[in-house]
Amino acid sequence: MNSFSYVRVSDVESALREGGAAGSRFLGAGTNLLDLMKGGIERPQRLVDVTRLPLTAIEQLPDGGLRIGAMATNSDAANHPLVRTRYPLLSQALLAGASPQLRNMATVGGNLLQRTRCYYFYDSAFAQCNKRNPGSGCAALEGYNRIHAILGASDQCIAVHPSDMAVALAALDAVVRVRGPKGERAIPLGEFHRLPGDTPQRDTNLEHGELITAVELPASRFTKSTYLKIRDRASYAFALVSVAAALDMQGSTVRAARIALGGVAHKPWRAMQAEALLAGSALDTGLLRKAAAAAVEGAKPYRDNAFKVELAQRAIVRAVQTAGGMA
Ligand code: SF4
Repeated sequence: MNSFSYVRVSDVESALREGGAAGSRFLGAGTNLLDLMKGGIERPQRLVDVTRLPLTAIEQLPDGGLRIGAMATNSDAANHPLVRTRYPLLSQALLAGASPQLRNMATVGGNLLQRTRCYYFYDSAFAQCNKRNPGSGCAALEGYNRIHAILGASDQCIAVHPSDMAVALAALDAVVRVRGPKGERAIPLGEFHRLPGDTPQRDTNLEHGELITAVELPASRFTKSTYLKIRDRASYAFALVSVAAALDMQGSTVRAARIALGGVAHKPWRAMQAEALLAGSALDTGLLRKAAAAAVEGAKPYRDNAFKVELAQRAIVRAVQTAGGMA
């Protein structure tokens, strides 16, 4: 058994003080962290329970954007009128994740910090996992890698990020607000999660002791959007591939597009080449196929997941068609 201490805090200053101590980890709903602790994958010396922090508000910003407190639950965020009416893409993505029971508990901040669902990461019977035990190797490279990455991986780790919410946030140009020992900073969602490189043990660019306080969304001009999640069963399953597509249209012409993919990389993957191809053009299936091909350029599949290269392209075409009213 791994012993640890526990403290509950009720204000951000106390959270920063307690969370900055060596060996401390912030505990939100614990829907991922506690499972990892039970399996001996994570062994924090001290848990700082931040679920009572006054960070649950979902409110409009003066510039027309939206601020979602880090402790808002996934259910509250998904069902909030401002999210449903102005950012339906985010609402759809949240409701595509996990189960109602988990969404009622899990927080927005915790959702961003959930760890990969790579089987070998969760099973300590496998000695090789660079994410769990840096320098030990990667069992997935030669193992069963059907759910793994096709983009942005390294020979140190080919895991994917599991969040649906984060994929929508990437497409919506969200910013993560954090506070820590060095003060406050804003991290664009696209820079929040990391590619594995030589340090797959680090999922994000958060420093020790930094606390997520909110996620902010800019005022959205993307009035047409959809979140498409392809998975092995209809609910309570992680994405094999997902697509968050958002369009700013003038008639049948795309003024601007945002496309982000889930289930394909160690972080939500923005398909910027595809977005650029669509901008300024009329939506048609031929162009969409070209854009989808651009999105997976450089993809490197492994033994069991080559299907994802084709699946991602088809999902992009379908998601953008749906968003644009073509399907
Ligand atoms: Fe570990 Fe990453 Fe390899 Fe999975 S893919 S076994 S998480 S190093």
